[in-house]
Amino acid sequence: MIEKRKNFCLNKEEYIKTVSEKIKELLEAIGEDPNRGGLKETPLRVARMYREILKGYCEEEKPKITVFENKENYSEMIIDEGYFYSLCEHHTLPFFGKVFVAYIPDKKLIGISKLARIVDHYAARLQVQERLTKQIAEYLDNVLKPKGVAVLMSARHLCRELRGVKKFGAIMTTSELLGQFREDSKTRNEFMNLVQNKLNS
Ligand SMILES: [Zn+2]
Repeated sequence: MIEKRKNFCLNKEEYIKTVSEKIKELLEAIGEDPNRGGLKETPLRVARMYREILKGYCEEEKPKITVFENKENYSEMIIDEGYFYSLCEHHTLPFFGKVFVAYIPDKKLIGISKLARIVDHYAARLQVQERLTKQIAEYLDNVLKPKGVAVLMSARHLCRELRGVKKFGAIMTTSELLGQFREDSKTRNEFMNLVQNKLNS
């Protein structure tokens, strides 16, 4: 399975061809005519889209992370916030929202723009929000060996909105706290209050 994913990420033509054929079959299976005007290019478009939004299966696409020595001995919380988009693995529908990534450095620092790219990498595969949150936190914990890492994601899930209970705008929040964020309630509260304020503003 891993080998296959690897081939696909190295061989764009093969990926597009295989995936678009399957999309064409899917269109037929749901009762559509994949040869009608509006759908003619759809299998190709979907295949190209998957290659973009599911590129996280490809290890080669993983962002190159440069870490810096923490020369100034900076020891306060560093926090970045942004947006993320992913696809739920149960329905292949989007879930998306805000993400907060924080760490307390020890000997290493990371370029702040890299945090968003790590989020994007793990989001670009079929996911569940809980695992995505954990993967980002554990990856940072591994590369930076910081005193603490915190990741909080607050997201809408289209599979809860356009099907089933149809709960418009429902938000699901997940967090993963490691090191000082888990052990020290003062640090944890500082992070949580900051995030709460940002989410409410
Ligand atoms: Zn779902």
